[in-house]
Amino acid sequence: MNRLKEIKQLKELAEKYRLDGREIIEKYNMQELCSIYNGIGPDAFPEWLRKGISALNPSLAVVAFIHDIEWHESDGGMEAFTASNDRFRTNGFKVADAENAWWSPRRWMVRHQAAKFARLCQKFGWRGWSSPCKCAVCRKKAEKDAEIAAEQQVSQQ
Ligand SMILES: [Zn+2]
Repeated sequence: MNRLKEIKQLKELAEKYRLDGREIIEKYNMQELCSIYNGIGPDAFPEWLRKGISALNPSLAVVAFIHDIEWHESDGGMEAFTASNDRFRTNGFKVADAENAWWSPRRWMVRHQAAKFARLCQKFGWRGWSSPCKCAVCRKKAEKDAEIAAEQQVSQQ
């Protein structure tokens, strides 16, 4: 699927399922969202794990979408870290329930996977959360800041 189309669909799903923390999406334009959203899981996660989760649980993509934006905005604090991972589980449950009837085994499977992924993030995600975001938006901002700093140095000489 086209990347912009995918982001647009995720935005709609977040709204449709009334996911917790979805207001964060509105702060960014489509291009920024494309750069920030990198599939499922933070960059610090091993590639095989990200791929496995993406393939097994496409319905959790919208949950990861919000989670990724929160990690992009990370303040590096423990409290927000735990809140973000808890929200992954809560939102995962919402999606599981909205997309599947209560008697469907899939509902319980998606719930189980959401809880598992939240747990993995809490256990292994700290390094990613507490280190600077490396998405294109953040890289560009860092370059610009460095440029401004260099210009200021020149003008002071
Ligand atoms: Zn970023």
